[in-house]
Amino acid sequence: GKNGHREQKLVVVGGGGVGKSAITIRFVTSHFYDEGYNPTIEDSYKRQFVVDDEAVTLEILDTAGQEEFAAMADQWYTFGAGFLLLYSITDRPTFEALPNFHQEILRVKDKDYVPCVVVSNKCDLSRYRAVGQLEGREMARSLSAPFIECSAADGVNIEVAFRELVKLVRKDQKRE
Ligand code: GDP
Ligand code: MG
Repeated sequence: GKNGHREQKLVVVGGGGVGKSAITIRFVTSHFYDEGYNPTIEDSYKRQFVVDDEAVTLEILDTAGQEEFAAMADQWYTFGAGFLLLYSITDRPTFEALPNFHQEILRVKDKDYVPCVVVSNKCDLSRYRAVGQLEGREMARSLSAPFIECSAADGVNIEVAFRELVKLVRKDQKRE
């Protein structure tokens, strides 16, 4: 029903160390999480968010991308209505891994389209850039997703990324 659209379940996926936890915690608390890198933490968070003058309650699952958790992935993908596909501009293999995450999401949900936003994180570390912005845009286009460069450290474009995803999920829910 219509009320169901006031809640969305979103999932943050990507390789280890790309900033999944940092982005999630920045979005939920407005602080940069820098307790060091703990790849094993998987947790979910709630935040109220207003997009296009309409409130939505987001439940956000911050996944742990390590091999030993791969068995969990089916559950994450089933849970989520929309996905932030994250890579780090400093870590090329995390960029190259995105199509795999995307394919797995489509496979598990048995759909040919799932709302996703490609998020290129750590743009504050441009000195160490290993993935060009243009490559990022092309990757996003190939996955039918918007592209957003952000920095969890500097708090750049985090809300923009979530807002884009909320809009895509709304559009998708209207189609169904
Ligand atoms: P996860 O494995 O994807 O959850 O990655 P984390 O969120 O734990 O981040 C991994 C490391 O990268 C941590 O040391 C973070 O402080 C750091 N980090 C995350 N986002 C950024 C960012 O935007 N800029 C910089 N400079 N460091 C970041
Ligand atoms: Mg994490």
